[in-house]
Amino acid sequence: MHVAGVDVGSTATKAIVMDGNRRVVGKACGSTGASVVGAANRMFQEALKEAGLEEWEIEFVVGTGYGRYKVPFGHAQVTEISCHARGANFLFPHTRTLVDIGGQDTKAIAVGERGDIRDFCMNDKCAAGTGRFLEACATVLGLTLDEIGDVSMRSSKPLRITNVCTVFVESEIVSHLAKGERIEDILRGVHNAIAGRSVALLRRVGIEPEVTFTGGVSRNLGMVASLKERLQCEINVSPMSQYMGALGAALFAIERAENIPPGERKIEAAVAEARGGEEPGAHGGH
Ligand code: ADP
Repeated sequence: MHVAGVDVGSTATKAIVMDGNRRVVGKACGSTGASVVGAANRMFQEALKEAGLEEWEIEFVVGTGYGRYKVPFGHAQVTEISCHARGANFLFPHTRTLVDIGGQDTKAIAVGERGDIRDFCMNDKCAAGTGRFLEACATVLGLTLDEIGDVSMRSSKPLRITNVCTVFVESEIVSHLAKGERIEDILRGVHNAIAGRSVALLRRVGIEPEVTFTGGVSRNLGMVASLKERLQCEINVSPMSQYMGALGAALFAIERAENIPPGERKIEAAVAEARGGEEPGAHGGH
């Protein structure tokens, strides 16, 4: 048996193909861009190619992320909050607090023993303190996303950055540069500012160990270091952290596929569609 999870985020789309033993056999990640449907199709096809499978060999597909209802081949949809919690519980079973920092929003999630959602909150009003904010800072400093984490780790005297607004932080950085401040100290200040904001969000759901960090921004080791320092505890991070939503979606897909007799799968898909795609066990969210 093979299933797939497709996470259509506002910035990046991730797809996972998983076998019946819950092993990831294919994955793909790329920019969502202007066409949500196009990105979902592209990443699904890339993940299938890596797995060496054809679309008809996939028994169940769960879509998640802000564009989940646009996944044309999806049999069911689950919110990204449920999927990140499910994925984190799979990789780090002792996760009780989860922070997901993506391209345009941050989520704090309190997770139960079975990967269930106890509470969550998010900042989705603007991109303050998210991946897009970091991208704006990198651009002003003439660095790439891949570089900023390492450069920030070289800082010996982090500056205090007061803005987490993507628009205002640019002029704050420019004025620090004009004063001759070192790029690494500015960057560490930027990372610390995001960590401070994220920890404030986490406090609203309660911080209990273990803490797991997911979303694309978890690929930035400078961000991992700043969060650890602010939380004063270890943080679980995996090379799969950006895929956590897609991984959770694939795990939901396995559970659904296992419970549905093969002959009834198409009927189940039609029922899910008629219901508007809402998935039992899915929680609110956006
Ligand atoms: P979403 O699901 O909200 O679309 P993701 O969780 O996939 O977003 O995260 C996308 C963000 O991850 C990008 O905006 C970018 O800032 C960040 N990101 C992606 N790759 C890297 C990397 N190699 N280093 C640092 N940050 C990265």
